[in-house]
Amino acid sequence: LGEVLLHWEAVQPDKAFLFAPETSAVLTYGQLAKEARHFSTWLEQEQISAQGHVGLFMQNGRQTSTVFLATMACGRVITPLNLLAPTDQLAWVLDHSDIEVLFYSPDKKAGLFLALEKTKRKFKVIELDPDAAEGLFMQCAPRALPSVQSSQAALLMYTSGTTGTPKGVLLTHANLLHAARSMAAWHSLTQSDTVLSSLPIYHINGQVISTITPFVSGGSVVAPHTFSVSSWWGLAIQYRCTWINMVPTIIAYLINAAKSGGVLPSREDLKWIRFGRSASAPLPPEHHREFEALFGITVIEGMGMTESASMVFCNPHDESRRYGSPGQPCGVEAKVIDPEGNPLGNNVVGEICLRGGNVLNAYYKAEAETVKAFDSEGWLKTGDLGMRDDDGFYFITGRLKELIIKGGENIAPREIDEAVLKHPAVLDAAAVGIPDSNYGQEIMVCIVLKPDATCSEDEMRSFCLKELGKFRTPKVILFMEDLPRGPSGKVQRLKLLDLQKAH
Ligand code: ATP
Ligand code: MG
Repeated sequence: LGEVLLHWEAVQPDKAFLFAPETSAVLTYGQLAKEARHFSTWLEQEQISAQGHVGLFMQNGRQTSTVFLATMACGRVITPLNLLAPTDQLAWVLDHSDIEVLFYSPDKKAGLFLALEKTKRKFKVIELDPDAAEGLFMQCAPRALPSVQSSQAALLMYTSGTTGTPKGVLLTHANLLHAARSMAAWHSLTQSDTVLSSLPIYHINGQVISTITPFVSGGSVVAPHTFSVSSWWGLAIQYRCTWINMVPTIIAYLINAAKSGGVLPSREDLKWIRFGRSASAPLPPEHHREFEALFGITVIEGMGMTESASMVFCNPHDESRRYGSPGQPCGVEAKVIDPEGNPLGNNVVGEICLRGGNVLNAYYKAEAETVKAFDSEGWLKTGDLGMRDDDGFYFITGRLKELIIKGGENIAPREIDEAVLKHPAVLDAAAVGIPDSNYGQEIMVCIVLKPDATCSEDEMRSFCLKELGKFRTPKVILFMEDLPRGPSGKVQRLKLLDLQKAH
């Protein structure tokens, strides 16, 4: 990544890499390269060892992206930490990740210090304003960036923790470049592209899709601190964004706001936008179609995971794309296997496996996990269930760990979610298996209604009976204010079980 930085510094030093809308600050490729050279000396002065990792506990911003990219350009490993992690989990990651220095933004201090009280390791902790025009390391004299092997580690990223304790994924420069180049080629991204993304830099989507891909292709990123329905379209228009990077929750909010009399920009205003992207969680086809109809923007659904530096599947841009499918393999090989590891043919559901230049070699300090995750030919078993159709499109039905097995029958939670989402009063829904003495497991669905909408339990039950039939109609229907979500807006289904107990 250091070579990429020097290349763009030479070719387009004044080109904006990042726009920080809150402060109207701009980070150019030239400034980024300059700060990286100062940062290189700073790391040396602070005696951060070659193997030492640099932690980042910061909201998106100019300095956040600078430290993120400069650390890797200096040949060190960057470890962005989840700002929403519960204290114990954060303390666990801080202990596990071998961080030697941690940068945090002032607004995150209280949460961080709670976790620090629980950590066993000692490391430097430094406050840094994410919006600052220049980092504190600018006082150091600059020096040339070191040369870095592509097989060297660049990013230590923890998985979202949707199905358990997060796993450390160590990705090399080669992994990241492979992913970013595959992504750029797939979407034909060039220096003339600008992405609007409010996805956090502590999730693989925000890192690879919204940061490293534009960086590698010489484009620009508009990176607000967080997502806001009211400013989203204004930013897209102001910065003439050519694509927008979203997750399904963002899409749901934008649809809802437009339909409830809120923001609906004109087609003329949105004409610069070539496409929208949705990944990180399944996009319900209903929302997919509705978004396209409302805003006139084609949405390309993709799928990513931390272990593959985010690139797994992606839909084509032409009319052959499929609703309800994250698309075809992008930069990776994929196959579907049965529980014994035998490859399955088309249209049969099994576990999805991946292999490719972007896939991790091993989990960080977790040998048992690594042994479990890889087969003898180097395929990564993803834990995701799905199938491939005759045209090579994949369909994800859920996760192995979240599969509902009722009376010996496999039920994909997603099937239940999507049926419930068809009800006009429903904003969000997630199903999960609950213990049942008759069937082994029964179905529970947790539902968030749209603001001001009403729907009784009985009404929902009759709706489900119609949509799903008796066997698949949830036994328990819970209405909630919100669903528990991870850093990328993914529902943490297994947490719903605790919420049910508390109910
Ligand atoms: P953990 O591994 O800690 O349980 P996680 O798997 O949620 O957490 P991530 O690496 O952030 O952590 O997420 C990758 C997962 O997200 C994929 O394995 C898949 O289950 C899900 N996913 C991502 N995009 C999509 C999509 N378009 N459709 C369906 N599932 C998706
Ligand atoms: Mg996972």
